[in-house]
Amino acid sequence: MKSWTEYLWFQTAKRQEFINITGRVQEALNKSSIKEGLCLVNAMHITASVFINDDEGGLHQDFSLWLEKLAPHSPDSYQHNLTGETNADAHLKRTVMGREVVVAVTEGQLDLGPWEQIFYGEFDGQRRKRVLIKIIGE
Ligand code: ZN
Repeated sequence: MKSWTEYLWFQTAKRQEFINITGRVQEALNKSSIKEGLCLVNAMHITASVFINDDEGGLHQDFSLWLEKLAPHSPDSYQHNLTGETNADAHLKRTVMGREVVVAVTEGQLDLGPWEQIFYGEFDGQRRKRVLIKIIGE
């Protein structure tokens, strides 16, 4: 069995952003030369997500509005923020949107559905953060 490990770094301009990383994950897969296997992609920070969905701007706005209803960025209204932090909402948003995805690798390609794209979801940005890619297979 072969394996490949790679880290992607992000420093977003805004506090919250969704970034399509499908091309960068496929590039890592190309470098690995693995043709059949599994590809794990996970955020390494507890205020960021990796998730799969459609690359459609209106939908991304819908995600943002929905998340803001669930967990408003209102630093005074959370227990976590009594510790001096201001990012409780970002922890909650991350949990809803997920930590990681696993994508099948078939014939050297990410075996995604027709509209599936991989996103990095940042909820407390403007600082350097990492995503791990781990690919195993043959
Ligand atoms: Zn925190």
